[in-house]
Amino acid sequence: MGLEDDFPLTLPDGTRITMADLTEANNERIFARHEASHAVTAWIVGVPIIRVELNDAQHSAKNAGETETGTGVALQAKPLDELRVYARNQALISLAGPHGSGESKSENPLCVARTKDHFAQARERLIVIGRMSEEEAETEALRLLEIIKWVTSLSRFQNSVTRLSEQLIEHRKVSGEQAVDVISQEWVA
Ligand SMILES: [Zn+2]
Repeated sequence: MGLEDDFPLTLPDGTRITMADLTEANNERIFARHEASHAVTAWIVGVPIIRVELNDAQHSAKNAGETETGTGVALQAKPLDELRVYARNQALISLAGPHGSGESKSENPLCVARTKDHFAQARERLIVIGRMSEEEAETEALRLLEIIKWVTSLSRFQNSVTRLSEQLIEHRKVSGEQAVDVISQEWVA
């Protein structure tokens, strides 16, 4: 049975995905811009970047890349206001992936699904880390979304994403230190 026989795929919500949708959405440039957008946003909010990585294009969309950020703090021991700051930063970092890459503007069902996934992830972080109620988290995630739409539209954001994504495509893996160098240079260029 060839790979084509599996198409169109049907997502749990009934969305159908064709082979052409998959080819269009799963390209290296989009993956690299997506990961770079997470990293640039981490840099903006001051969350340390540990590494930014781009996996092989054959991997599924979920494993397409990874941006690792960290704080090195024991979250449980923190007071609520600090947890909320951290949760908001993490939510902003999540939201930035599909918005900085352009996936959020695409009608490709895979890009639409990724955009929804990242919104759900942002809301989850506000609930789990920030201990917000579902209602509070929804309202807050929508507020942060408007901020992210604006930040990711800035030319200095897009230029930083372009440069970092080029580095990612070339080296597959960029250390936090290298990422900060690239972003900060491009941000003021
Ligand atoms: Zn992502």
